[in-house]
Amino acid sequence: MKTHNYCIAIHGGAGTLLREKMDARLRKKYENALSAALDVGYAMLEGGGSALDAVVASVSALEDCPLFNAGRGSVFNARGEHEMDAAIMEGSSRRVGAVALVRRIRNPIHLARAVMEHTDHVLLAGKGAERFARKMKIERKPKAYFFEALRYKQFLEAKRENKVRLDHDGGTFGTVGAVALDASGKLAAATSTGGMTNKRWGRIGDSPIPGAGTWADDRCAVSCTGTGEYFIRVHAAAQLSCLMRYGRQSLDAAARKVIFESLQDIGGEGGLIAVDHRGHISMPFNTEGMYRASRCRGEAAWIGIFGGENGDALPNDQRI
Ligand code: ASP
Repeated sequence: MKTHNYCIAIHGGAGTLLREKMDARLRKKYENALSAALDVGYAMLEGGGSALDAVVASVSALEDCPLFNAGRGSVFNARGEHEMDAAIMEGSSRRVGAVALVRRIRNPIHLARAVMEHTDHVLLAGKGAERFARKMKIERKPKAYFFEALRYKQFLEAKRENKVRLDHDGGTFGTVGAVALDASGKLAAATSTGGMTNKRWGRIGDSPIPGAGTWADDRCAVSCTGTGEYFIRVHAAAQLSCLMRYGRQSLDAAARKVIFESLQDIGGEGGLIAVDHRGHISMPFNTEGMYRASRCRGEAAWIGIFGGENGDALPNDQRI
């Protein structure tokens, strides 16, 4: 059997700190967290594990890290609570599982996987999803586990200004995601988020919606981050696949078209990570930065935060 050039890419959100607010100590913290999450996923692939296991391993590590807006570090909604969304998709089978508006679940990505593997459904939301979590014995945490002082301050600010926010200078924002190609040629994508600060009325973003914030098929795997409503409106993640399939575009051309044309043209902000069946990776974004990292078979790990650094060939404001 042919061994594929397995690889993995992860993101910790497109709402990074502004460059001038990122000091060396803080930068190191983010880089260490990204590096640790990348390593657990890469180790799975290296050991012959599946793309599905690799993306779950990396996303769970990011969910457990309070620096990112997912799991433990989820932002506050308008009622001062945490409501989390997550999705996982396997490329070859097109199986997908997702949850929305779940509370107190330590790793929403585990619950999304359980939806995929143990139900006939695709997306479970709110109390029903939490009942299912209890049935599946998915780990829950007390409310205090999700409390982050800095994020609470940002929530109070957003509330005062009456804004729903994807912050760019708050310091602790970022949906998380991972995409991977395994040695047997299979692709998978996973995304997990606390959504947007001060969100109201049961708002659900793009992350748990297959085709919008998360997608995998036999051609590519995609995980998005940014102003979710816009990603839903352009069907961002699946659009990338369609550009490859029907428009015969390369992964990178398609990824950049989605971000710098479709999304940007309607005022959306954010980025995505994508990998194709040959092991190419693309990570475009139109925000100041996007926490991101990748590693391909036999190569060193790559980590980036802002645009045009560490040899990143993608200036973040360039149209195709
Ligand atoms: N896309 C996420 C949402 O709209 C937010 C993010 O990427 O930080 O829920």
